[in-house]
Amino acid sequence: MELRDLAGRVRGGGFSQAVPPVADSSDVADDRRVPLRYVWTACGLAVASWLWYAAWVMTGAGPVAVAYVAVPLGGVVAVAAIVQLYREVRGEVVARRFWAKLAGSAFIMTVSYLLMAINAFRHSVGDRPPDMPMAAAVCLGLGFIAILWAIAGVPVHPSGPHARRRMHLDRAIAFLGCATLLWHFGLAPMLTSSEPWPVQTVTLVGFAFVMSLICMTKVSYLGDGPVDRTAMRLVAAIGLIAAGVAVLAATYGDAGGVPSQSVVLPLAPVLLVLAVRAQWGSAGRRSRQSAVLLPYVAIAAVDLPLIAVAVGGLQWPGRVAIASAVVVSALVTVRQVLAIRDNKRLLADVRATEERLQHEAAHDGLTGLANRARFRLLLHEALNAGRGATVLLIDLDDFKTVNDSLGHDVGDHLLVSLAQMLREQAGDDAVPVRIGGDEFALLLAGGTTVGETVAQRVLDALQAPISEHRLLVQASIGIATAGPGATLDSVLREADIAMYAAKQRGKAAFVRYLPEMAEPVLAHIQLGGDLRRGLDNGEFELYYQPVLDLHSRRLIGLEALVRWRHPVRGMVPPAEFIPAAERTGLIVELGRFVLAEACRQGSQWLARFGPEALQKIGVNVSARQLHDPGFVADVLSVMAQYQFPAERLVLELTESAVLRGNQVSRALHDLDEHGIKLALDDFGTGESSLSLLRAFPAAIVKLDKSFVDGIEIDDVPAACDARQAVARAVIQMAGALGLDAVAEGIENEAQAQVLFGLGYTLGQGFHLARPMPAEALTALLASPVSA
Ligand code: C2E
Ligand code: CA
Ligand code: CA
Repeated sequence: MELRDLAGRVRGGGFSQAVPPVADSSDVADDRRVPLRYVWTACGLAVASWLWYAAWVMTGAGPVAVAYVAVPLGGVVAVAAIVQLYREVRGEVVARRFWAKLAGSAFIMTVSYLLMAINAFRHSVGDRPPDMPMAAAVCLGLGFIAILWAIAGVPVHPSGPHARRRMHLDRAIAFLGCATLLWHFGLAPMLTSSEPWPVQTVTLVGFAFVMSLICMTKVSYLGDGPVDRTAMRLVAAIGLIAAGVAVLAATYGDAGGVPSQSVVLPLAPVLLVLAVRAQWGSAGRRSRQSAVLLPYVAIAAVDLPLIAVAVGGLQWPGRVAIASAVVVSALVTVRQVLAIRDNKRLLADVRATEERLQHEAAHDGLTGLANRARFRLLLHEALNAGRGATVLLIDLDDFKTVNDSLGHDVGDHLLVSLAQMLREQAGDDAVPVRIGGDEFALLLAGGTTVGETVAQRVLDALQAPISEHRLLVQASIGIATAGPGATLDSVLREADIAMYAAKQRGKAAFVRYLPEMAEPVLAHIQLGGDLRRGLDNGEFELYYQPVLDLHSRRLIGLEALVRWRHPVRGMVPPAEFIPAAERTGLIVELGRFVLAEACRQGSQWLARFGPEALQKIGVNVSARQLHDPGFVADVLSVMAQYQFPAERLVLELTESAVLRGNQVSRALHDLDEHGIKLALDDFGTGESSLSLLRAFPAAIVKLDKSFVDGIEIDDVPAACDARQAVARAVIQMAGALGLDAVAEGIENEAQAQVLFGLGYTLGQGFHLARPMPAEALTALLASPVSA
């Protein structure tokens, strides 16, 4: 039942069926049919009354008091219908109140007409019904008041103060206009007639006028609500019946009483029961307000009495009509002025919205700078006008790192501060733009050298920490100037190429586009896409290079080295694609593959050849991977998946990679705590320092190949001594700190001997063993020679 109730309300009807919980749809249909019998009864009474009147007029048969029978009987039917609606159908409070008041009104009026009927039977003389008794008039008046009260209680919902004011004005205009009409043709003739009308009749007719007008104007403004709109209109239409009675009275004098009672008034109960039915089935009906024309109808209405005055001459009721017409036209003027003001306001709103939308469409929401679309438009206009233009494409270096390690809020702040800085540096001669992400641009008018000046200003400004987080960021800037015949896309592409070239030159730099840049940069950009495809197609595989004991030449460990079996280019060495993978971020996915493959293969070898065959597997890790927040978890889950023992895994990192702030340092300590070994790769080439080795949980250092190259040659003593000095310092430091040392890139026996002499016990290099595919290594492990 609750569900049904809810459904009824949701569908917009105030009342819905109060159906028992188990009721099926046929019960509902039965319920809906119930009020129909009231309609039939009310209609039947009305028709019977009309037939009686016709017979009475033609034959004059029967007592005139019969005319008074139909209305009170119909009233009983209407009261019963409303009571049943009220009891059986639940509704919102507003609707319940409305129908309760209406039931009260119908009841009082029925009593009134009952009194009239009794009075008529007792006091009629021939064809003349008696005057209305005082008690009946009072009841009738109270009934009217109750109807007014009921309708007044139904809320109208104008959409704001303006709409409310407009509505009140419209209602005043409509009321006055129609009232003038009813006054002039209804009440005024009654008041000025030679045979004076009984006071109670005149009062009641006037009352009926006022009531019907208030109801009509109000009902015109009712939207969908708890009380059904059609029901409200039907109730308000009862006012028309009152008006009809008044017209009859004015036309026929006392003789109008009989047709009023027997012909016009029996329609009132019919309207009431129809209203009950409308409310009963109101659920789901939808309609819209349409009261815009009401005031204009009223103006037309006020014209009729004016015409009548013009034709019939001016008496005092005519003056009332003229005064009323003046007031109506004044109100209409006010209404028009208000409408003009409203329209102006609306127009201003529309314009403001339009401007806002246009601004939003052309600007970036975060920084407020012009966006890509506006940038393209401005550049297009400059090129079309032949003004020439210079584009500075500005890309933040390592912005992703800021976002990943400090969070997106800090990243956003940084972008906003950067936008502000660009605004300041751009001054009046350039338009700053946010292309998207961490890519910005400056659009300069004409100029070949001015681009460099502005780019330098921007780089200088970046020397100071930016945003409240005091971050130091750098940017790579590409400059392109539109030459003759340049198109929008060619300028943008050139700026793009120059920007990539700036990034390749070690970032924090600006580069102006030169035609010879295009090919290598495009190849580089293309490589990014190629890499993605290669990863998806499984074109990557691992080679393994043995690490040997320099004394026994036994295999101690392996280094995994990635290779790209490119479908067109053949085997591609990592130097050619690792930088691109780092730039595009694909290194994270590639690194995950390398680690998984090394662990899988390593576990397989350990299972097959035993723990003595292989002590360690080294895997190279890029700085970008260490920044990935999921790196440690990835490593642990891969090891768990292939059951590879942590103490046999070596992650090889470069010094620059480990010098990357707190997050990286935390990750490295995490890995160390899990027993994973960390190696410092290419040791000696970076800013290696003792303090770094102390702070960083390394277990192994790998002496860079550049110190091994030529270490055995003593005909250039100075250079040879310098290398030997580094090699010796590294092995001594490793010994002091308890680290293993591996000498890399040993290409001949002499180097191996010198290094062994210096104290190195582990070595790696083409002379000892080249990197080889997994099958070759399996064969090596299987052969007795490796032992
Ligand atoms: P690296 O970590 O220093 O690796 C050693 C490089 O030196 C390997 O080159 C190896 O083939 C080469 N090499 C070994 N012995 C000799 C020798 O006696 N003479 C000469 N001339 N070279 C020798 P490769 O495989 O081309 O790798 C180059 C670099 O690519 C690696 O340098 C490493 O930084 C990077 N790399 C390789 N695989 C991966 C990987 O899976 N992930 C990451 N992030 N980087 C990798
Ligand atoms: Ca390495
Ligand atoms: Ca190395």
